[in-house]
Amino acid sequence: MGQLFKKREREEDDTMRVIAQTQKCIASGTCVLTCPQVFEQRDEDGVVHVMDEHPSLALLARVRQAVELCPALVFRLEDEDETGELIVIEDPNAL
Ligand code: SF4
Repeated sequence: MGQLFKKREREEDDTMRVIAQTQKCIASGTCVLTCPQVFEQRDEDGVVHVMDEHPSLALLARVRQAVELCPALVFRLEDEDETGELIVIEDPNAL
């Protein structure tokens, strides 16, 4: 029981894998305003582009906020057990 709690706490604190389903992006720019260290918009159409696929864990809260604020639900979260990393990648084919 205690071990389970510890694992869950670790996942929430230290680990997050974010998939940006860029086909869904409506180019609002919210993620860029929230976390410009990780996200930018393409010049040609304003669609999100992930600049840093392995951001510092110091940016975890900002990335989480960007994910929550996206009006088009572009971002999907996946847990990466025990990695202790923040990973942000693009999946342009996801609908
Ligand atoms: S907040 Fe969502 S819709 Fe707006 S630019 Fe970022 S990914 Fe696209």
